[in-house]
Amino acid sequence: MMQLYTPLHWFGTYYRMIQSNFIDMEKMFALLDEVETVKDAPDAKELVVSEGHVVFDNVTFSYDGRQTALNNISFTIPKGATVALVGPSGGGKSTILRLLFRFYDPSSGRISIDGQDIRQVTQLSLRKNIGVVPQDTVLFNDSVYYNIQYGDINADSSEIYRAAKAAMIHDKIESFPDGYETKVGERGLRLSGGEKQRVAIARTILKNPPIILLDEATSALDTTTERYIQQALSDMTKDRTTLVVAHRLSTIVNADLILVIKDGTVVESGSHEELIRKGSLNDDGVYYEMWQKQLRDDSEDRSETVLDECA
Ligand code: ATP
Repeated sequence: MMQLYTPLHWFGTYYRMIQSNFIDMEKMFALLDEVETVKDAPDAKELVVSEGHVVFDNVTFSYDGRQTALNNISFTIPKGATVALVGPSGGGKSTILRLLFRFYDPSSGRISIDGQDIRQVTQLSLRKNIGVVPQDTVLFNDSVYYNIQYGDINADSSEIYRAAKAAMIHDKIESFPDGYETKVGERGLRLSGGEKQRVAIARTILKNPPIILLDEATSALDTTTERYIQQALSDMTKDRTTLVVAHRLSTIVNADLILVIKDGTVVESGSHEELIRKGSLNDDGVYYEMWQKQLRDDSEDRSETVLDECA
């Protein structure tokens, strides 16, 4: 029954999107296009996640068959651990997330979850077990209630409110004149980037997946919003295997493992303390330099704030 239900659920979602407007239709085709690039193996099995142990084993990948986006990447994420991906733009961080979600298959190497090669499992079962919080969440032209319920279409209102509270967005929703029935999305109320991300967090909490992919927002958020998001994120990722693309290093100092990705390879890896200790010995290292730059930027921001306050 569940097997039948899920495709119907997808169809229902697309149907709602078709109903809404042409912008949504373009998005739908973009989404289907991505989904079309890989197919289930004829004998694909259901992914069974017991631990959420993720392994990239010598993974190489190219989008166009010429330029290599990832070159022999290997790493392991133990059950419930958080691995942060950092490094210069275009290094290959988002590509790692896309491969784990199986938008594409590696050119060589293997990605496995609890020992199962993700090419050998159904895409539906893979994606049911992975929650994605993207940098810029697209909301459906529907109520904020439905936008959260999308994480688990069978959830009732008390579960939806609980998820919204955990994502620290419940009070905000209650402050809208129509509360949870407020229409959001292209043609509804425009939520801020931070609010949209918290809706995505609530949706993911409701979905309750053992594995989470998180693309941290690049845009600067105000300090209060940032604190809310960080709190919501750390509650959500607790005890779940998490892969996070981080743009602000301050948010990942507590990650179990940091991988510095540059030109499609892992150039440094370790905890924040290890990478800083190593870097400070010779006053070099990609991570160490990124950290120094962030400290400088933070102190410039602080002095600008002081100047603004004095003006
Ligand atoms: P950023 O921090 O800017 O998001 P990133 O580290 O996430 O960068 P990726 O988006 O993974 O980097 O890109 C890795 C490489 O693959 C880059 O050279 C990029 O130009 C290329 N690339 C990314 N997406 C595609 C695509 N859809 N088609 C072709 N090449 C792509």
